[in-house]
Amino acid sequence: MQEKETPMLPGSTPVPPRLLRALSEPLLNQRGSSFKALIDDVTDGVKYAYQTNNDVLILPSSGTGGMEAAIVNFLSPGDKVLALSIGAFGDRFATIAQTHGCIVDKVDFPWGAAVDLQVVRERLAADVHKEYKAILVTHNETATGVCNDLQGLGQVRGDHPALILVDSVSALGVMEVKTDEWGLDVIVTAAQKGFLIPPGVCFVSVSPRAWAAYERSTSPKFYWDLGSAKKFLEKGQTPVTPAIPQLAGLREALKLFQEKGLDHIFAKQIYLRDITRAGVKALGLKPLADDAVASAAVTAVWAPAGIEARAINRKMREDYNVVLAGGQKKLENKIFRIGHLGYVQHLDILATIGALEMTLKELGVPIELGSGVKAAQNVIMSRKGLL
Ligand SMILES: *Cc1c(COP(=O)(O)O)cnc(C)c1O
Repeated sequence: MQEKETPMLPGSTPVPPRLLRALSEPLLNQRGSSFKALIDDVTDGVKYAYQTNNDVLILPSSGTGGMEAAIVNFLSPGDKVLALSIGAFGDRFATIAQTHGCIVDKVDFPWGAAVDLQVVRERLAADVHKEYKAILVTHNETATGVCNDLQGLGQVRGDHPALILVDSVSALGVMEVKTDEWGLDVIVTAAQKGFLIPPGVCFVSVSPRAWAAYERSTSPKFYWDLGSAKKFLEKGQTPVTPAIPQLAGLREALKLFQEKGLDHIFAKQIYLRDITRAGVKALGLKPLADDAVASAAVTAVWAPAGIEARAINRKMREDYNVVLAGGQKKLENKIFRIGHLGYVQHLDILATIGALEMTLKELGVPIELGSGVKAAQNVIMSRKGLL
């Protein structure tokens, strides 16, 4: 028998049983009226999560496909873009733009820090001929557990004509995003992070300004053509075979969102973040992100001096069935990451901190058993009733 696991990954995230049942419903005819009702329903529900009146298209793909769609629909080869990167996923967005022939002006911020908006303000002010066609930004950098200030970015962009294209793959549905109020033109997210369902669908929102850019775009596109997706959606269909089970699961997930309310979901995520950070800090460990920019989806933590992060993750998995994520690229083997988004509750984190204490102790780190758990318990008790 498979052992019971405690998956604490920043995606794919655990699927609640109620959603698993919806995922196993018989397939609908993708050109029939029941499918039309389904796609209309989930499109409305996703718009609620985006807090937008813009169009939102649902595509059969992982999040990276949505990022590529954002580039090929609203930009053209030769367009200049300002790519803001604070980690591995910011690098990916810049690489996709480059792959499609954009001239990428990339600004790298230290991994573990957020975008410095003053730098963006200066770059835009220096762009007197308004050459930047878009600003690429990661909402929540999953590789480092740092969250960028999108509201501030919208203000800094002001009336510069550059579109703001956002990778919010690990943030939408987890942290507040006010698409319209903050002036965010295109936001990409995917199902398997904040939306609680298995991988296979991504979402892309499109502002009227972005549709105007779509009309000008000369980038080749077929599978990713959002204009075509919009036309089909008007008939209650999709241009290619949709991921029908995922959409049935998504309908149920969105019902959950509506029942709980977005404010409740965001508050719960902050609560889970605070429990996690209190626990690891009490063990003398240091999160990469400062409190002010800390992600509500994932906490990245430096391994203690002289200890390989890989050894921590291995022991957590082999001895305690707790599954953590590792570091990516230059953070490989230096950090471990605790995902706490989606179908996760306070006691999962308590179990994780408890297992982490035993793991560290066995690896020779001088910690006191119970000290991390106690700090985490104190946060739980001080905010009781939130879950
Ligand atoms: C998970 C993730 C992605 C995309 O991942 P896919 O594997 O393509 O779904 C992109 N950006 C961020 C910030 C992510 O966390």
